[in-house]
Amino acid sequence: METVGAILDLIRSGGTVSRTELIEQTGLTGASITKIVRQLLDDGLVVETGSGDSTGGKRPTLLQLNPAARVAIGVSLDEDRVTYLAVNLGGQVVARSSSKGTGSRKPSEVAPRMGEEIAAFVESLELDAVVGIGVGIPGRRDTAWFDATAWEHRALEDALMQATGRKVMVENDSTCAAIGEYWVGRMASTDDFATVYMASGFGFGLMIQGQTYRGSAANAGELGHVLVDSHGEPCICGRRGCLHAMGGMVRIVQLALLDEDLATELRLRGTARTTHADFDRIARAAVKGDDRAGALIRQSARYLASAVVSVNNVLDLDQLILAGPGFSLVGEIYAEAVSERLSQDSWSRTATTVRVGLSGLGNDVAAIGAATLVMHSELTLQNRPRRNRD
Ligand SMILES: [Zn+2]
Repeated sequence: METVGAILDLIRSGGTVSRTELIEQTGLTGASITKIVRQLLDDGLVVETGSGDSTGGKRPTLLQLNPAARVAIGVSLDEDRVTYLAVNLGGQVVARSSSKGTGSRKPSEVAPRMGEEIAAFVESLELDAVVGIGVGIPGRRDTAWFDATAWEHRALEDALMQATGRKVMVENDSTCAAIGEYWVGRMASTDDFATVYMASGFGFGLMIQGQTYRGSAANAGELGHVLVDSHGEPCICGRRGCLHAMGGMVRIVQLALLDEDLATELRLRGTARTTHADFDRIARAAVKGDDRAGALIRQSARYLASAVVSVNNVLDLDQLILAGPGFSLVGEIYAEAVSERLSQDSWSRTATTVRVGLSGLGNDVAAIGAATLVMHSELTLQNRPRRNRD
């Protein structure tokens, strides 16, 4: 902990911090901290704000992140909508725009339009302080429209970078959700935690020591393809009984369509493009107390809980956050099922309790997370290697 980025990260996670606290937390000398803080103040990233409690002498001046100092653009891609957000350093959305979704088109077809839309959005902000552009995309292989590979990530990055002339980072939406929680939820880099992201598929985002875990080829986090029933339904990955096939949105909608009365009452449409909307109708009915809809959602939640227990047995998590559109209406049902199952079936159940919570970032979590991914990379991680500066 001896660089500008690390100090900025401590101020971010601390909310308000004094120079003395920074000295205590880092073990750096007062002179080093003074110099680094001066640089952060000069860059406008940090501001002085009031005084803390005195410990005998003069009351210390407190430091905090200056939310307005920078913005990053966060983009999330969905079949029915592309969302563009301008997010400030504090994680607040300061402007938004959206356009029609990707449908079943490939990124190579969608990217040129997105490039133009992002460029126009950035121009409309009339701000100099745009750090870069983060893009959250659906899980890598479990959506029909986007058979993404590492190369395609780079292709999308290159296309958008060319169109906008700015730094672009593309990441899967579950990892974006994790970093969004980390940044906006003011978690410390010492907090290891995971997010489950539910949209068309299930993703798992892991933050370890302030860094995202991406796996050897950036394919980590495919929670949807954890086995939950070896005799279960065929999955798009070629196996049987994956979480995606047993408890994913598509499966729940399929099961609801088999109940003709329910399908008619809820006006389910049952097409690939309407999966999210159909799932939301089932979720809304479950919340209103419809037993048939409730049973379907609880079934999905049970399968998710089963997959999470397996993953937790490997990772020994401290905290798990449920994020994404799948949880927006019925997150409580999922959180309760996951929490209960962890406390009953986890290997470590007698020693530790996994805290299970819902994301406070709502449906924008992937786009907000994509924006904070760029800020984290450019402002805190990027600055870390510059050891000779302090
Ligand atoms: Zn599968």
